[in-house]
Amino acid sequence: MRADLARLAYRGRTASIGFAHGPFVRVDAAPSGRHASGTPEDEKRALRAALESGGRQIASLAHAAGGEAAQILEFQVVLLDDEDFLDPVFAAIAAGAPADAAWSSALDEQIADYNSASDEYLQARSSDLADLRDRVLRTLRGGTAEAPKIPGGAVVCAEDLPPSRFLEIDWSNGGGVALLRGSPTSHVALLARSRGIPMVVQLGTVAEPAQAALLDGERATLELDPSAQQIDVFERRRDAHRKSRAAAHAILRRPAASWGGEKIKLLINIQRVDDLDHVDAQYADGVGLMRTEFLLGQGAGLPDEETQYLAYDAVLRWAGNRPVTIRTFDAGGDKPVPGFTEDGEANPFLGVRGLRLCLARPDVFAVQLRALARAATLGNLRVMFPMVTTPDELEAARSAFVDVVRALQARRIPAVLPELGIMVEVPAAALTIERFKASFFSIGSNDLAQYVTACDRTNGTLGKLSDPLQPAVLELIGRTVDYGRRAGISVSLCGEMAGDPRCIPALLSCGLRELSVNPSALAQVKQTIDRLSRGDARD
Ligand code: PEP
Ligand code: MG
Repeated sequence: MRADLARLAYRGRTASIGFAHGPFVRVDAAPSGRHASGTPEDEKRALRAALESGGRQIASLAHAAGGEAAQILEFQVVLLDDEDFLDPVFAAIAAGAPADAAWSSALDEQIADYNSASDEYLQARSSDLADLRDRVLRTLRGGTAEAPKIPGGAVVCAEDLPPSRFLEIDWSNGGGVALLRGSPTSHVALLARSRGIPMVVQLGTVAEPAQAALLDGERATLELDPSAQQIDVFERRRDAHRKSRAAAHAILRRPAASWGGEKIKLLINIQRVDDLDHVDAQYADGVGLMRTEFLLGQGAGLPDEETQYLAYDAVLRWAGNRPVTIRTFDAGGDKPVPGFTEDGEANPFLGVRGLRLCLARPDVFAVQLRALARAATLGNLRVMFPMVTTPDELEAARSAFVDVVRALQARRIPAVLPELGIMVEVPAAALTIERFKASFFSIGSNDLAQYVTACDRTNGTLGKLSDPLQPAVLELIGRTVDYGRRAGISVSLCGEMAGDPRCIPALLSCGLRELSVNPSALAQVKQTIDRLSRGDARD
């Protein structure tokens, strides 16, 4: 966040680990030029054509990228068709404004609104809007909706970068992203991590023009026009990082992680079926968390029973005999779903989300339970409920599930009730864990830490306060694990802590023996446990 006076070196926050050395390219100059205006009808036509061109661009990027990236781009695709959003722009044109001025002033207003939101998630969407603004302006001002090309291997520097712009860049020759604002929890950071592209965010002001740059995603630094000595240090660090990754991958192929002679089960968290294609997923002991809410909002409306059943079936087939834990929809909070979640909640993280929402919408919940009850006949399936606060909620969900199974069986459709567990992520549940008649517990440390520390999990400015290693958070994790041991109920942890080498010693000391992590973190977690078990706690 601060320029080092001696050298042009900046420090930010790591969003994706890795190293990049290449040409320095600034990309956020807004399209310039003027659009020659005509009659209001001409202007409306020009805007419609530009909107279509921008929409085609984004749709083709979504098609090429597929999976998670396609879902992320959905936000922009939907906006380009949203009458409520477009009507005031067309009204301004009808009142005599040129298309480009009407469009950019409407978008600037929206961008300012998103930027002033207290929620980091909403702030992150402002760069999607800026991207839409610029795509449409480029077409209106006589260019194409496409952004200028960026040379391969570049260190791309921007205020912020929308996912669509990230996906347009050719990363096949390496390169990295340096953002002056941005957030490690943004969608573009998620894409960078899953594609192994280094990214540093929140660098502050980088005013200097430069030819070349070094981006160190481990130290979260950006160095401009580096000296030979800086390059030498950087290349040595990059080399050490490569070796350590290679060693981690070698460990991944070994049969099991163990600590103090006890096997540590390492499972994976997935968002959707194609996450199983990650090269490291095959080494997992199973799926510890499938976040099914990512099936929502992929097409028109909520997914029907057959679509869900096919997704669950695909995961169970992939897993074979390995266990698969599927979580029922955890929509709400930072995951709004139009047509399902409540609009206008003052405090969505404390509102109707997770199981609360499913119990309030038995129509939507029943469809998911039917798909799960049918899938449970196919493999080693466990189902868990998110955001459970009281035992009554678990019992209400169980009873809805039992009804669904009975109804299916009455129609001679193969269905069974799977083992039912809960996420332990609300402090009330962790504090009264003995009262829950669950078959297993999975600790959601992301939410548990935010509710225990009263720190919004999407707010990157809270620093140490939001650290999940706080004693209060560890206390509740330890309490849950102790109870599980005494009662013979399995306990795992599936929040981001499980994939963070810094947190692993504390989690193992709490007694956890089952961790569920993103596929890309498996190798490093296994390596960390291996080092700890050999008494080398340096990692
Ligand atoms: C958690 O809260 O730790 C968790 C795994 O669930 P999510 O991140 O989906 O809320
Ligand atoms: Mg959670």
